[in-house]
Amino acid sequence: MVMGAKWRKGDGKSIKVFVDNRLPEKNGVYLVKSGYKLLCEEGRRDATSGSSREGMASLWSKIWKLKVRGKILHFLWKACNDCLPTKVNLMKRKVVDEPHCELCGKQPEDTKHALWNCEAMGRVWCVDFNWVSEDLIVYGTFLDLIEMCLKKPGSGELFGITAWHIWTHRNRVRLREKTIPLSGIGEAAKNYLQQVKAIREFRED
Ligand SMILES: [Zn+2]
Repeated sequence: MVMGAKWRKGDGKSIKVFVDNRLPEKNGVYLVKSGYKLLCEEGRRDATSGSSREGMASLWSKIWKLKVRGKILHFLWKACNDCLPTKVNLMKRKVVDEPHCELCGKQPEDTKHALWNCEAMGRVWCVDFNWVSEDLIVYGTFLDLIEMCLKKPGSGELFGITAWHIWTHRNRVRLREKTIPLSGIGEAAKNYLQQVKAIREFRED
């Protein structure tokens, strides 16, 4: 399988897509499938095989109840199905040829590393999530982590918003765009959660 990478302009922003050269050519034009879609199809196939399918459905029904905006739910869905374009996933698709995290340069960047385990993330999670056990952080999967955070009232929302801020930070650093520093993400996530709550309460009044 030969994979190529190229830049495509979409609604004014540059987004990186990759072209699967296995796809048929139609009238001289390659049919392009977005990298996300391919990653999601593969990740979902792995995540939903056999007995894990029921667990996934139950986890997703809890995530779905979180009182956060759709973009956060969509992000969590991609993270849980292992279809975020982490370096590990990009390497699987031969878009990059090495999987190392660009923040620490020490470990392969999979979903759990990018959103939680990278040493650079310690300062983000240490304030409001210091109750999560070290064993779970070291040995659990990303799904175990999110499951644990969903058990504590109010933590599921903060977890989702914080992880979304971390992923946005990571992408902006890669694109050399302005971003909130990691040291400000904990505060930014709490402010965001307050705003969402205030808007909801205003609408319910
Ligand atoms: Zn790292």
